[in-house]
Amino acid sequence: MAPADGGPRAGLLLGDPFSGVFGVFLPAAIPPATMDGMPGDTRSRAAELRALHRKVPVARYRSLMLHWLGRWLRSPRRALPAPRPHVGPGQVAITFGGHATAVIRYAELTIAFDPMFGRWIRGVRRAVEPGVRADDLGDVGMIVISHRHLDHLHPASLALLPRSATIVVPPGGAATVSPLGFSRVVELNVGGDLELRGVQLSAEPMAHGDDPLARGLSYMIRGDGPSVYACGDGAWFPGFADIGARHQPDVALLPIGGFLPGSFRERHMSPLDAMYAFEDLRARLMIPIHYGAFALSYERLGEPERWLRQLVRERGLDAHVRILAPGESELFVTPRRDHDGQLTLGGRILGGAGGQRPGHRGGEPAFDALLGERAAAAPEPTRPTT
Ligand SMILES: [Zn+2]
Ligand SMILES: [Zn+2]
Repeated sequence: MAPADGGPRAGLLLGDPFSGVFGVFLPAAIPPATMDGMPGDTRSRAAELRALHRKVPVARYRSLMLHWLGRWLRSPRRALPAPRPHVGPGQVAITFGGHATAVIRYAELTIAFDPMFGRWIRGVRRAVEPGVRADDLGDVGMIVISHRHLDHLHPASLALLPRSATIVVPPGGAATVSPLGFSRVVELNVGGDLELRGVQLSAEPMAHGDDPLARGLSYMIRGDGPSVYACGDGAWFPGFADIGARHQPDVALLPIGGFLPGSFRERHMSPLDAMYAFEDLRARLMIPIHYGAFALSYERLGEPERWLRQLVRERGLDAHVRILAPGESELFVTPRRDHDGQLTLGGRILGGAGGQRPGHRGGEPAFDALLGERAAAAPEPTRPTT
């Protein structure tokens, strides 16, 4: 659907994959996400997503119960070893812990997001070992919880983390975590914020349903390095555009699993929903989470990643989506800005000519360029695999 001014269509990154127009939506040297040219009516965006989902074939379990029973007999796959990344000033490292768990490391503060190291969620067995072990998290100074579902707020996992940490929970979460004895428990509401060792955390909304355990928060995190937005769970909602307008995060952690049957999309995102959220957020790089470890919905465990890879391939978004295996880390580096206000990397001036769309933020590098700088900026390798 084209906006009234006849400019580019709503999904600049995305478009209708069935229209026969693939790739080239996004030149590599500009940031990926913009609301420019997007119709103000978010209902049309939701309708576009609904229509697109009707056309996408996704492999599903015929019986979840049978899958669970079969899974009981199989040990989880091993995760990659996770050497702790070295993080300097102006950098942030992100380690995927499997399911919705991520470790976000700035030089001054290590944050564990939705840490869950359990092998089971009720009767559902983990398919892949956790990508981080609690004994590798002795440096955690802050624990951030998105909401109170057991795959996100897991008391047995929290009990393995340093009690010196500050733990941040959504409304209603303090009662659950207080008995664990952390040095500080902070319950935030949307709009609330907190600073610890130079890292700012602000609480943003998420759309995951209204029951008390589902009500939760997403978070914007700013330290000395690229900024990170973390959404542990939830559906696509117009709030992403509002968060994007205020924060324009560098990296967005977004959930991509739990979307079948179709009614689950009221509470969860598919990879396609997540790509729309990524665009609304105006983020530079997306890291998918909440997939591949626990079969909690009818799409097969490998489907979220398969579909995301397909979307990335079709739309030429390799530079803007980083899929981490459980245990894998990536280091991101803040771009430098020269005296003209241009962002420069390694002597090259990126963005601007060629790839610029009308109204787009010009002169800013895509994250592939930031990754390119990593080799020079990082004192030691932090990427376990290529
Ligand atoms: Zn949940
Ligand atoms: Zn969840």
